[in-house]
Amino acid sequence: MSTLRFHAVKASLKRKPLKIKEKKRRSEIFGSNVFNEVAMRQYLTKTALNSVLEAIEKGTKINRLVADHISTGMKEWAISKGATHYTHWFQPLTGATAEKHDAFFETIGDGLAIEKFGGNQLVQQEPDASSFPNGGIRNTFEARGYTAWDPTSPAFIYDKTLCIPTVFVSYTGEALDFKTPLLRALQVVDNAAVAVCKYFDKNVKSVRTSLGWEQEYFLIDTALALSRPDILLTGRTLLGHSPAKGQQLDDHYFGTIPARAMSYMRDLEHQCMLLGIPVKTRHNEVAPNQFELAPIFEEANLAVDHNSLLMDIMQKIAKRHSFTVLMHEKPFAGVNGSGKHNNWSLSTNTGVNLLSPGKTPMSNLQFLTFFINTIKAVQTHEELLRAAIASASNDHRLGANEAPPAIISIFIGDQLTRVLGELETVPKGKLSPKEITDLKLNVVGKIPEVILDNTDRNRTSSFAFTGNKFEFRAVGSTANCANPMTVLSTIVAKQLMDFKIEVDELIDKKSMKKDDAIFNVLREYIKTSKAILFEGNGYSEAWEKEAKKRGLSNNKTTPEALKIKKAKATIELFDSLKVMNKVESEARYEIEMEDYIHHVQIESRVIGDIARNHVVPTAVRYQNILIENVTGLKSIYGDRFKDFAKAQLVLIEEISEHIETINSSVTKMTEARKVCNKETSLEKKADGYCNKVKPLFQDIRYHCDKLELMIDDELWPLTKYRELLFTK
Ligand code: ADP
Ligand code: MG
Repeated sequence: MSTLRFHAVKASLKRKPLKIKEKKRRSEIFGSNVFNEVAMRQYLTKTALNSVLEAIEKGTKINRLVADHISTGMKEWAISKGATHYTHWFQPLTGATAEKHDAFFETIGDGLAIEKFGGNQLVQQEPDASSFPNGGIRNTFEARGYTAWDPTSPAFIYDKTLCIPTVFVSYTGEALDFKTPLLRALQVVDNAAVAVCKYFDKNVKSVRTSLGWEQEYFLIDTALALSRPDILLTGRTLLGHSPAKGQQLDDHYFGTIPARAMSYMRDLEHQCMLLGIPVKTRHNEVAPNQFELAPIFEEANLAVDHNSLLMDIMQKIAKRHSFTVLMHEKPFAGVNGSGKHNNWSLSTNTGVNLLSPGKTPMSNLQFLTFFINTIKAVQTHEELLRAAIASASNDHRLGANEAPPAIISIFIGDQLTRVLGELETVPKGKLSPKEITDLKLNVVGKIPEVILDNTDRNRTSSFAFTGNKFEFRAVGSTANCANPMTVLSTIVAKQLMDFKIEVDELIDKKSMKKDDAIFNVLREYIKTSKAILFEGNGYSEAWEKEAKKRGLSNNKTTPEALKIKKAKATIELFDSLKVMNKVESEARYEIEMEDYIHHVQIESRVIGDIARNHVVPTAVRYQNILIENVTGLKSIYGDRFKDFAKAQLVLIEEISEHIETINSSVTKMTEARKVCNKETSLEKKADGYCNKVKPLFQDIRYHCDKLELMIDDELWPLTKYRELLFTK
């Protein structure tokens, strides 16, 4: 019992839930570590405050003089809360958040020191950024990047450090982070949506994107997690036989939250409250030791920051509770994976959710306009949307165990399907007053305010309408939501712009009335968007066949899925809307492809190591025990030994066969890796890792897992699925 596995199991059995004291009401502490409007009113001059508020609302620039006032106020506030350092906090394309801390502290000669934080330090910083991924941007251009303050996401204090959300761009202005294109895309969809809203309400001045993410994750005891080299290095298990009991009893979903997990959640939620992350929902997920956390939705840029921040603090707080958070989309084979549903909607400054059916026919026509345009946008750009959620880790989740497939489709429910069917029969051209009244009363006016059948609990639709928002479910749990939100905002913006042009043309050239024009354009959209609508089971073979017939993409692997990103039309789309220029688009494609290669490469090395250095030696040891046993039996029974050693002899042979296959597969995999590594074309390299290296994981795993079932439990070195999943 000397293996790490048993030490880990022992340690995990001794754990007790930490006591979490919550002295104050959540509403009292909410946002107390955030430099929000309340704090700003207290610490900023009126000019400074107005300047920040205006920047938040209208995107105006803050001048340097005012920036000095703001930084001073911010510093005073931060110091009053015990902060000693400040940092520009940003989201480079590594998928983590980055920070470099500087102290407020400065010496002023004669052995004296003060606390200082100037406008310049607030507004712009130059981190040494040469080791963040940049997809060749900084090789071709200036070799430096800088971070610049994003006043629309408020500064906050974490770990005694004032964190200032920033964008991260190269000196030539190319985005090197997730936030920059997102901010641009949100602006584009704002403009496009406002223009369309004017058909219905002249008072609409701005349209904001709302995002409510739902973060799924696994909580595994740290000792157990650390005992597995694969979890430690890749965030998922590369081997492991499924336990006798899995999730088939469905007894975990929405069940009582285990005590240690509960204490962790309360601790985490407390931190979230201080940081102004409005978390609201927590529950067990389908798989054992899998959980979900969801906030109240927020403006998308802020929601993205909050999710990134949350993922970071989840790990930090987990340490205190001796937990390791597995964010990976598929930590365990055969068990539900983790996603991050992105609930998305658009709302106006007048307080109208554009994706919520309204009370009057007019507001319903507006709802239908946005609803149908979204469908049309997704139909046109389904492949791009698939690319936006592509990653090595999400590939394992899509299409397995209740996750949506790699095919993008939209679920809208019976009621709205019926409405679209009726709108499709609207006659072409100008409508008679009777036809218009009829439409408004009997079709548009009949859309219920609350859509009843939009629960779609089978969860297999990648993009579902859920009553007053769309839920993009294909997003993976490790993803930065900025990527899918940037793409969704861009394609919807483009669609709304096209819609506006088409409607205006009918009004101007065919002298149609506004309503007639809208109905005419929407009718055509419904006709041309049918392929994307699907209400059935998303991971059936029948659907794969059907989707193919409909011309929908089904890119099952990341290298395949990413291809669309460097297509001419894609680059033009982002470039024409000024969300990303050609260089930025190409750089991102490159970074994501490289990221994919690195992930598979690391996994391949790890599985090779575990198979050869952990599994095979254990198998040999066990085989020796068997041989010893057989030899012993022979010395007692002579020729009759075979009668007593039947099982042992079979096992000895089987073990040899498994060892042999494992060994040859690992050799084959290493060879395949060598070939890939010599490859200079990014596509060929990724393709090799995807189709030559990765498939060998299966073979290796299969035989290792078979050995797990044969070998004496006391000898097996790798913590087993049942221990990882059922230790609470
Ligand atoms: P579930 O999907 O688990 O049934 P809900 O649909 O109530 O739960 O909400 C899930 C998430 O959707 C929450 O984060 C919630 O804040 C968010 N959400 C609700 N309404 C909107 C909206 N209009 N826009 C964006 N997100 C929303
Ligand atoms: Mg949901």
